[in-house]
Amino acid sequence: MPSRAPSHPLDSPARPAAAAAGPVRRLLVFCGSRSGAAPCHAALARAVGALLAERRVRLVYGGGALGLMGAIGRSAIGAGGAATGVIPAFLKDWEVAEPLCADLRVVDSLHTRKAAMFAEADAVLALPGGLGTLDELVEILSWRNLRLHERPVWLMGDRDFWIPFLALLRHLVAEGFAAREVLDHVRLLDGLDALAALLPPA
Ligand code: AMP
Repeated sequence: MPSRAPSHPLDSPARPAAAAAGPVRRLLVFCGSRSGAAPCHAALARAVGALLAERRVRLVYGGGALGLMGAIGRSAIGAGGAATGVIPAFLKDWEVAEPLCADLRVVDSLHTRKAAMFAEADAVLALPGGLGTLDELVEILSWRNLRLHERPVWLMGDRDFWIPFLALLRHLVAEGFAAREVLDHVRLLDGLDALAALLPPA
């Protein structure tokens, strides 16, 4: 009898939700430790920081003072918002730990940082960034794909920043290396108003 390759376990229907999604009180934001070439990226980070403060949503982030990380942190804290920064000891000087962040946690590694940030979050937002931002985003999506969590993952960026990333995800699906449902695990927000609509009212 011809043997058939077993189906992939992740092609079976998803398990029921572990917990109902509640209001987003703590948002984990991944973003670049650089500012990027176009000024609109830092402007967006600052706008998101101010929005989080206005909605009393705690910013959970890498705690660095450089680039978009610094922009969002200073904006949120400057507007009276709460922020939790998680930074590995070896990056404290290099990425300049944010002196304004009252809840700055120093951890031993990048792995611990990711797990610690995620443990504090109700939802995840990726703004433009580089390899570190991508690493963090892909890991959270891979945990989602393995059904280790059901927290929302959102993308936002000007200049069509995330379109190539979404095209790559569709490519993985088209080539048979990912289930179609990975495309449902991430949502592109088309601007600040779209994010505002997902947060508790002011
Ligand atoms: P980047 O987007 O490259 O500017 O990095 C954004 C943040 O991700 C910075 O705080 C980096 O320290 C961090 N980062 C860089 N590489 C990694 C990695 N492999 N795993 C987790 N975080 C990282």
